[in-house]
Amino acid sequence: MIEGIKGEFSALFGQDPEVISFAPGRVNIIGEHTDYNGGLVLPAAIKYGTYVAASRAEDGRIEVYSENAGWEKWKAGSFEKRKSFGDYLRGVLKFMDAPAEGMRIYIKSSLPVGSGLSSSAALEVSFAVAIQKIFSLEISGIEIVKVCHMAESEFVGVKCGIMDQFVSFFAKKEHLILLNTQNLHHEYIPFPSSLTLAMVDTGIRRSLSSSRYNQRREECKRALEGVRKIFPEVENLSRVNEEMLFSARDFMDETAFKRAMHVISENQRVSHLADFLRAGDLCMVEKIMKLAHHSLSEDFEVSLPEIDGMVEEISSLPFVYGARLTGAGFGGFIVALLLKGKEKELQDNINRPVLFSGPWSGAEILYSVS
Ligand code: ADP
Ligand code: MG
Repeated sequence: MIEGIKGEFSALFGQDPEVISFAPGRVNIIGEHTDYNGGLVLPAAIKYGTYVAASRAEDGRIEVYSENAGWEKWKAGSFEKRKSFGDYLRGVLKFMDAPAEGMRIYIKSSLPVGSGLSSSAALEVSFAVAIQKIFSLEISGIEIVKVCHMAESEFVGVKCGIMDQFVSFFAKKEHLILLNTQNLHHEYIPFPSSLTLAMVDTGIRRSLSSSRYNQRREECKRALEGVRKIFPEVENLSRVNEEMLFSARDFMDETAFKRAMHVISENQRVSHLADFLRAGDLCMVEKIMKLAHHSLSEDFEVSLPEIDGMVEEISSLPFVYGARLTGAGFGGFIVALLLKGKEKELQDNINRPVLFSGPWSGAEILYSVS
């Protein structure tokens, strides 16, 4: 892989790269729509991700070629927004306070772009670690995560939680990350060695997903405002329990109530799933995955009848220990916990593209001249 990337870099730019980095995409096992409500998530990185090869250049120009998106060029030190993929990179450079020097950059990704496995975070994080290396910047891991999150949420302007960037940087092979999105406390949960992860492409792309996502955020906000009529000090929905929610029911509409129910119950499921994984109780793991999908479908209403059907079909296979819709919803991927060695059987049973991966490690420098 490294030799191939070096070859492609020199074919484009007539020089060798100084550095090649990799950052993975991610899949969320459980904890959906909890991240912007200060709750718990349990994601893993996957082996699919984004490679960035980079070198400094003396002409003060930044020239980027992405295999997925083509060329983008600009003057170093300029932070113009163009509504293109270069915005992610300019956002990272801006918040990292990187020197305004020219660069040549080549990007190659094994992730599907724009379908919920977080190619955006993989791009930001891979680019950030490459920049850190090239310019020997003194910046900690958590600062890199925050810079990348700001690049996406503030510079590009996509309102997202910090989970994606956190996982892409801090993930550990064969582990899931139990992450508290409010204070970033986290714990690595060993993934059962008998299992692997399957990401089944629903084939449904979420054309209206960002407006619906914003709508869900708005509904959660309404629920929180209702709860605050009785508990004015409560910080976010993840600090609310069922009793509190029921006592505030009259201060919110039914939709907001259901959304809050999902968030409260989902946080409990995340903790329970982590406990059952630790205990190796796969039967309970499967039950919780089922409840999680049901809540996403009924209370949070981000599934579709076709997706419910697919989840049901996959879950009913004897070598699958739970499956649910993952990501923002209305399409994208279904995550399944699959018995290792049954990859082909799963593929044969469902007529859809599937990606397989065990939980992968976070961003790394694959090659560097210094
Ligand atoms: P996801 O993160 O789920 O893949 P997003 O909509 O958050 O979907 O991010 C997709 C966007 O990220 C793309 O439209 C593009 O701007 C940028 N992007 C991701 N990967 C690449 C890549 N390899 N090359 C260029 N742009 C990319
Ligand atoms: Mg993304």
